[in-house]
Amino acid sequence: MKYASQRGTRDILPDQIRSWQFIEATARKVFESYNYAEIRTPIFEQTELFLRSIGDTTDIVSKEMYTFTDKGGRSVTLRPEETAPVVRAVIENSLMGQGELLKLYYLGPMFRYERPQAGRYRQFYQAGVEVLGSADPLVDVEIIEMGVRLFEELGLKDLEVDINSVGCPDCRPKFKEALKKYLGAKVGSLCGDCQKRLKTNPLRVLDCKEPKCQKAVDSAPSSIEYLCAACKADFEKLTGYLEQFKIAFKVNNRLVRGLDYYTRTTFEIISKSLGAQNAVCGGGRYDGLVEELGGKPTPATGFAIGLDRLVMVLEEQKVSIPRADRLSAYIVTMGDAAKTKGFEVLRGLREMGIKSDINYQGKSLKSQLKTADRLNAEFVVIIGEDELKRDIFVVRNMDKKSQEEVKFDDLLATFKLRSE
Ligand code: AMP
Repeated sequence: MKYASQRGTRDILPDQIRSWQFIEATARKVFESYNYAEIRTPIFEQTELFLRSIGDTTDIVSKEMYTFTDKGGRSVTLRPEETAPVVRAVIENSLMGQGELLKLYYLGPMFRYERPQAGRYRQFYQAGVEVLGSADPLVDVEIIEMGVRLFEELGLKDLEVDINSVGCPDCRPKFKEALKKYLGAKVGSLCGDCQKRLKTNPLRVLDCKEPKCQKAVDSAPSSIEYLCAACKADFEKLTGYLEQFKIAFKVNNRLVRGLDYYTRTTFEIISKSLGAQNAVCGGGRYDGLVEELGGKPTPATGFAIGLDRLVMVLEEQKVSIPRADRLSAYIVTMGDAAKTKGFEVLRGLREMGIKSDINYQGKSLKSQLKTADRLNAEFVVIIGEDELKRDIFVVRNMDKKSQEEVKFDDLLATFKLRSE
C-alpha cells in the first residue's frame, strides 16, 4: 500500500520552504510596522458561522466547504477563509474597546473543495488583515497601501490595484435588479453555473472566468452607476485619497468578489506576470458582518493574500530569497568512544548557537567527509582513536582544504572566536 497526499494538497518540502519563510517573515514585519497584532483562530468552526457570513449562494458555501459531522453530532467546517472566524473571535472575546480601532493579522491554511489547477489548491495558505471599528475610506487606503508595500518589500513587479464599490444594502438591490434584467436577455450565452447564479446571486456572473460569460457581461451595468449618495461619496473619497497618495489604481467594474459580506469598497492586487489565477490579494469592506454575526454594528475592512500564488510569482520573477545559514561545523568520528566525545563537543557548540551536526552513521572517513561536503559544512571536526588518545581534534577547513590540530579544551573557544 502506498499513500499519497490528497488531491489539491501538497507537501511544502525543505528546498521550497525558504520562499515561504521569507514571505511569512516579511508579512509579519510589514503588518507589525503598521501596528497590527496577530490573532490565531481554530482550523475548524461551527458550519453555521460560514453559512451566515459568506452567504449560502456563493460558490464557497454551495460547493466548496469541507463540512463534516464530528463524533458529538455537531456540524463543523474546515475554515474556507479567515474573516468570519476573526469576527467571531472578536465578538466572543469582547476585543472591541470603546471607540477604539482593532487591527489584526493572521497567517495560516484555508480549505476549499475546488477543482485543483495551477495556483488553485484545496488546502492553500493566506496571510490577511482585518481592521474593525472605522468606516473611514482612509483605512481602506491604509490596507491597500500596506498590501502594495508588502509586495514591494518582497521585490515583486508588475502589480496592479483594481478597485470597485459594490454599494450597501440600500443601493445594491437596485443594481442587482438591473443586472438581472440585463443578463436575463443573455441567458442563452451564459455557462450552466451562471444560469443558476442569475437566479441566486447575479453579481457572481460578473467575475465568472468562462470566456463566454465574460463576453456576455461586457457591457453590463456597473455597480458604480447605482451607488446611493453616501456610497458614491465614499467611493469618491477613496479614489481621491489614492490619487493624492499616488497609489496607482484602476476602477474595475467587474470586481464583485465571491463572498456576500462585502459592502462598498472591494479591491484586488493583481500580478500581471501570472496567468488566469492572477489575483494575489483580495479584500474589501464588510460593514454589516459584525452585526450579522451577533456583535454591535461595527464597520470593518480587510484583505487576504494568497501565499501559494505569491510563492509562484516570486519564483517566476526570480526574486532572490535569503539563503539558510551555512552549517558551521560537522563532527566526523571513528569508533564509539570518539562518537561520544564528538557528541559532547557538539552539545557545547550548539549551546553557543553555532549551527552544527554530527555523523551518526559511522561509515568510513571518506564517506563521512563526502556527507560534510554535501551539507556544505564550513568546518569538519574529526576525531578517531588516535585523536582520542592525544586529546585533540583535527579541524578541517572545507573551503581552504587545510587542517589543523586543536586541543580538546580549546575547541569551543576557537569556534567562539570565529563566530564573533
Ligand atoms: P478570497 O478569500 O477568495 O477572497 O481569496 C483571497 C486570495 O486567496 C486570492 O486572491 C488567492 O490569491 C487566494 N486563494 C483563494 N482560493 C485559493 C485556492 N483555492 N488556492 C490557492 N489560493 C487561493
